[in-house]
Amino acid sequence: MLARTPALLMSLPKIRAWDFTLRTFTSSSLLQSSSTAPKANGILNEVRILSTCGCIDEALSLFFSASPPPPLPYSQQTYATLFHACARHGYLQKGMYLHQHMLSHNRSYSPSVFVTNHLINMYAKCGDLKYARQLFDQMPERNLVSWTALISGYAQQGQACECSRLFSDMLMHCRPNEFAFTSVLTCGDYEHGKQVHALALKIGLGASIYVGNALISMYCRCYNSSGSDSGDIDEASTVFETMEFRNLVSWNAMIAGFQLRKLGSKAVSLFSQMHSDGIGFDRATLVSVLSSLSESYNDSLHVGLKCCFLLHCLSIKSALVLQIEVATALVKAYSDLGGEFTDCHRLFLETGCFRDIVSWTGIITTFAERQPEEALFLFCQLHREGLAPDRYTFSIVLKACAGLGIERHAYAVHSQVIKAGFGVDAVLGNALIHAYARCGSISLSKKVFDEMRFRNLVSWNSMLKAYALHGQAKEALHLFSEMNVHPDSATIIALLSACSHAGMVEEGIKIFDSMLDTHGIFPQLDHYASMVDILGRAGRVVEAKVLISEMPMEPDSVVWSALLGSCRKHGETQLAKLAADKLKELEPRNSLGYVQMSNIYCSGGSYSEAGVIRKEMEGSRVRKEPGLSWIEIGNRVHEFASGGRRHPQREAICTRLNLLIGQLKGRGYVPETSLALHDIEEEHKEEQLYHHSEKLALVFAMMNEGSLHHDRSVIKIIKNIRICVDCHGFMKLASDLLHMEIVVRDSNRFHQFKNGMCSCNDYW
Ligand code: ZN
Ligand code: ZN
Repeated sequence: MLARTPALLMSLPKIRAWDFTLRTFTSSSLLQSSSTAPKANGILNEVRILSTCGCIDEALSLFFSASPPPPLPYSQQTYATLFHACARHGYLQKGMYLHQHMLSHNRSYSPSVFVTNHLINMYAKCGDLKYARQLFDQMPERNLVSWTALISGYAQQGQACECSRLFSDMLMHCRPNEFAFTSVLTCGDYEHGKQVHALALKIGLGASIYVGNALISMYCRCYNSSGSDSGDIDEASTVFETMEFRNLVSWNAMIAGFQLRKLGSKAVSLFSQMHSDGIGFDRATLVSVLSSLSESYNDSLHVGLKCCFLLHCLSIKSALVLQIEVATALVKAYSDLGGEFTDCHRLFLETGCFRDIVSWTGIITTFAERQPEEALFLFCQLHREGLAPDRYTFSIVLKACAGLGIERHAYAVHSQVIKAGFGVDAVLGNALIHAYARCGSISLSKKVFDEMRFRNLVSWNSMLKAYALHGQAKEALHLFSEMNVHPDSATIIALLSACSHAGMVEEGIKIFDSMLDTHGIFPQLDHYASMVDILGRAGRVVEAKVLISEMPMEPDSVVWSALLGSCRKHGETQLAKLAADKLKELEPRNSLGYVQMSNIYCSGGSYSEAGVIRKEMEGSRVRKEPGLSWIEIGNRVHEFASGGRRHPQREAICTRLNLLIGQLKGRGYVPETSLALHDIEEEHKEEQLYHHSEKLALVFAMMNEGSLHHDRSVIKIIKNIRICVDCHGFMKLASDLLHMEIVVRDSNRFHQFKNGMCSCNDYW
């Protein structure tokens, strides 16, 4: 029937004449032998052997050379084998050509269900699901394999709806086997997976190892609708525990699940059980366990490092270290656990695994976020290895540039992007906008944006975020009015954050109110947090509190932090206490609630209450995030911690700082001692404030004025947390005294201090 469908034959794409060159076969004299039936049989056998061995081109050449082509009744098995091989190697073009060959040479025969199943499988595996479906729909009769082939095709392409619809249809025709179950479990949500689980139990497939493994993965992947975080992973554990037989895949699925759900210690302990039970392990096991280490040893890095070392030994012993995924995971684990960069870098070079641009990019990614300087160093090494960066490498390196905040580096990478021919790439354009903005060069961001040939939503959002970061709300609103693509939730966040940084309350309210009505975007948690921030900072804390109580969802820690920050700014002790309590409840390890409350009590003169908070904080193992600042002097990035503990020139810096403080006091600098966290002596408090990391960085820059880059009248400092009120006032006065522009990028935005003023107008 199929063979007699000319429409179908016509619908096959035309393939260029003879795609396959005829190969010579020393092993076979078949081509020279006389033309008899045994010859055809011999060829078919040979073709099947070749294609089973993976020599698909040779197999096809030989098969097409048979003249006349053996008719379908004899060649079904051969066609099936060849379709199967095409499916395995993803050879869509060759498979289609073979299909055409079969139809054109067998006009009087219909292919059997068996052959059509192989065809469906081939088209589905090669990603042409539309055609696979067409074949399936036209089959006069189908069997279990026909259904399963198409279902697994949908599953592989992630078409969850089609997949489960077909699975339900299947139930009316035949009883699904474990492969159909496995496929349907790999896509779809929790509710659907739960139903499939029940069905598997009902028809007696609950004990199947394949179904069990797929269930574990499904429960690990899907979150149940009740929103409880552990409910579904517990179900995965239950499936795992109750499995009669388990294989390596079962263990790997469970370990990967724990890792995915950030239950690192469970992943590690399951691995040690696996190891002591003598189950063995493979690449996937090692990668999952290594990726779990930093999560599970967050509090005791040295134990984590020891554990990492043991896994390193295991991976050498098993030779799995030669596999790039394992090597990359090892380097990442060492680096996450605080291992030295040089050791990690050497490890990567010494593992002996094959290194290409993909693996290099992987390793650069490992460092890009927390050690951007090292990521850039690795990027420079690429040339020595004779490798050319691709667009992924560039995008990750630009991310590192954004973190490092040094314009010169972003500029150098930009020129390489252009040289490599990626100048018009939208993704890299977006990354450049972001990087330049984070380096303080908003004009270069705008230039990249203006010159982009293709702008997508992310480009607009990146530019809006750049304006927000620099507190340029008017420019952001103007750009928004010119936007020619539909905004999304990130667009609104960028706009709200711009309004918040500029104190434009009414504009912020207008945008928030128009979200749903004008743009059809439902306000999410982060939109509410931004709105609370806008209202709160402007002193409208009661309105902010009302907004929180009207939220359709439970407010999260970001929302409460925003309220808390506003209350501190405006001395609203009662409301602050409420927010701090909520914050402690949601994130017991977050220091913010404690620090802010202590500061509020201090500024109100209630030192005993502040002391209570401090003790409470010590008792609950919460540590304050240490303030860090970075500055680039003479091609090196220098890091300063509050108090200057880490810097070798600490003494000299402190002496110079005291000198500067004296000068500034003469100009009216009064230390804001009320902000200090502790109930300590007044003088000590001053000392602590004096030694905030950005002040140390500023003084260090003054001491090395000759080595400053480019424009010597600008000092650029990067800070990991928000700048405090005292340092803000200090920088303003210092910019005036030194006749210098001081730029501080804190965790929130840029501050440009010039002539005794800041670009934020003291609103941050
Ligand atoms: Zn400070
Ligand atoms: Zn400022």
